Parts: sequence; C-alpha cells; structure tokens
Amino acid sequence: MKKKNNEAAPGAVPGLFGELPAPVPPKKSGPLAFSYSKMSLYEECPLKYKLKYIDKIKEEPKFYFAFGNSIHTALEFLYSVKAPPFPSLEETLEAFRQDWNRKSYLEKGYRTPQKAEDDYQKGLVMLKAYYEHNRAGFKPPFLVEYSTDVEVDGLLVRTISDRIEHLGGGEIEIIDYKTGKDVKRQPLQLYMYQKISELDPRLKEKIAETYGQRVSAVKIRRLLYYHVPTLKEYAFERADDREIGSFWERVLGVAESIRGLKFDPTPGERQCAWCDYKSLCPHFFGGTPPPAEPLQPAAARNLAALVDRYGQLKEKLDDLQAQLLEAGESIGRAARDGGEYAGSQYTAQVKKNSKWEFRDREAVINVLNKFGLYQKALTLTLTGIAGVLDSADLPDEARKKLLEQAVKKTGYDIKIVKKEGLI
Ligand code: SF4
Repeated sequence: MKKKNNEAAPGAVPGLFGELPAPVPPKKSGPLAFSYSKMSLYEECPLKYKLKYIDKIKEEPKFYFAFGNSIHTALEFLYSVKAPPFPSLEETLEAFRQDWNRKSYLEKGYRTPQKAEDDYQKGLVMLKAYYEHNRAGFKPPFLVEYSTDVEVDGLLVRTISDRIEHLGGGEIEIIDYKTGKDVKRQPLQLYMYQKISELDPRLKEKIAETYGQRVSAVKIRRLLYYHVPTLKEYAFERADDREIGSFWERVLGVAESIRGLKFDPTPGERQCAWCDYKSLCPHFFGGTPPPAEPLQPAAARNLAALVDRYGQLKEKLDDLQAQLLEAGESIGRAARDGGEYAGSQYTAQVKKNSKWEFRDREAVINVLNKFGLYQKALTLTLTGIAGVLDSADLPDEARKKLLEQAVKKTGYDIKIVKKEGLI
C-alpha cells in the first residue's frame, strides 16, 4: 500500500523541513562502498555521513573544492601524455580556464563574482609558477588520476591517486596535490593509499603494460604531498605493518557501525560549524541548540552575579583602553619626533613610525595580480604587501596603482619604564 505523505516512517527523526528519512540500510548484498573520505566523515559525525552518503542530500557547494578541482583538472591535462612533447603553458592554462567556466560563481560556492575572479587569477598564477618550476623535469608519468576499487574484507574501497610514478621493480610513489592553505600529514589517508594500492591487481598489470616488467608485488615507497601554492613537496615514507594493522582494525570498526546503522549525531564545535545539515539535525532543531535544562535557583543567582561582574569589568576595560589610546596619542603629538620623557613615576621612550594601511584589500589583490606580484604576496600579510610597495624594484605603474589604495599613517611606539625605587 502506498504510504501517505504525512505518515511518519518508523525510526524517522523530526527536522526543519519535515521528518528525516528513517535509516536506509546499505545494500546487504555485496560489499560496502568505502573510501578514506567516507571514513573520515563518519568519524566526524555519523549522522552527517548518513545524510550525505545514504540519504544522498546534497551539501552546499564549497568554493575551495571548486578551486582545487580546477587546479587538479589542469594538472591532469598537463600530465596526460604518453610521450613528449608536453602541453604548452598556454594550453595548460586553457584547460584550467575551461574547467573554471563550466560553472557560475554561485554554482562554485562563491558569494560574489569578484571573489571568484580573484581565485581564478590566483589559479592562473599558481599554475604558471608550477609549470615554470617543473618544466625542466617533465617526464611522462606512470598513471594520472588513477581511480580504483579494491574488494577486501567485505568492503569495496575506492582510492583516487592524482599521479603515480613507477620507481622500478614494482615500487611506486603516489603524488597528491594540495591546494589549500597548508599541508597537514594525514596518516589515515596515507595508510589507505598504502593498503589499497598494494592489494590492487590492476597496478601490476599496468606496470607490465607500460614498462614490460612482470612484478610479483607492488610496494609503495613513499607518498608525496605537493603543495601547489608554495611549490613545496612533503614526502612521507611507507607505514610499517603494525601501523597498517591497527589502521585496518579502525576501518573495519567504522564499517561495522555503518552496517549496524549507528548514525547518532556527535555534535562538536568544529564539525557543526561547517555542517550544511543543521536544519535536519535533531541536535540543532532548525539551527538553534535545544533549550538548556533550567538551572537550580542558587546556581541561577550565582550565574547572574557573574554575568554582572563580567559586564562591569568589560566596561572598565573598554574605558581604560580608550584612555590609554588617548594618552598615547597625546604623548605622540607632544613628543613630535620622539625621544625620552620623564614623569614623576615613569619614563616614556617614544619612537615615531609610519605605516601603510590599505583601504580596499580586493583592489590591492587585483593590482598584485596584474603585475605578477601575487605569488610574492600569497604568503604575505598586509605588512608584507606594504613591503612589496616599499621595494626598490617595483614597477612605477604598479607602485602608482598600489598607492591609490594606500594611506600612510603616522604612529608612535611608546615604551614605559617605571622609575627605580618606586613601588
Ligand atoms: S550539525 Fe553537527 S551533529 Fe548535526 S549532523 Fe551536522 S555535524 Fe552532526
């Protein structure tokens, strides 16, 4: 019989947009589809895993994934050659451009077209720098964007390797491009690559096809994280059997929990802050945490007194900070070019300085892009951008454009020393 729309399914959970579907068991027959990202999502929050992979509710697009994907696509294009010549820089940038233009800025997860344009320019600069840095060593790789599914212990585990190099005798190196701010060693990802690659029968066949070598086993020698924004490589050696053994126990534990339909939410500041499923999460009831248990009267009075004390201290602190700022500015104005001045209890050493401030950060980034200075500024703070402005080799046109965005402010460093003998 057809179920009515408003009829609750057994095990359903209330959410902002109506009830959540009751857990749909992963297909009993056949192995459980698994991967490193599925495992890490389950460990972050089992409910998030269920909403994404079992209920297949789409998350909001994330601009950093869109950016990383387009960089990966361009590098895949660059290395997809069986024999030289390699694509030119312009062809590689064109591959990036085409992938980038497949989606609108909103579809990529950007809030404004300007932000998307900034990242697009950043991508071009990054790829150009990558190409120039590596062009002398370009050689046809063993495999690019190699995706494989390996069945082991009732799981069908998928890994996707950005690039694989064969080092000879069945030994391989896996290269993983990173495009985020920094590179963190992710041991679980590394263990997953090692475990699955060494069980993958297709790799042996591919070595035979490509190099005419019959190898009895494939062995990972190392994993290389290549951080494209800084052109730095981070190499990690293979894990030992003990590490892989305990990692695999952990994998099987997660798989068992998924099969046992254990999908309770595990709220936490980090995972909930970036979770798109808050409106479906019973912990949040539509984005607001459930009301707290009422406090006992004594605890409520204690808390009220603390709130007032905190408020009074904060007011005093704000007032003191404003007074301190005003006194410092008055000393600076009176001291003009700096020097040492004594009061009855303290001595002030005053140094005059001047610094650049920038009105419009995005406009500054555009100027840096236009003059090929962005790579320099990628790791720089605003202080660093001011350093670019002050550098002697800056083209006049770039200096003029940057100065349109800059204001030079005079400030004072004041060091206070208490006079000796005073308590
Ligand atoms: S909001 Fe937090 S607890 Fe709820 S599903 Fe998302 S991550 Fe899990």
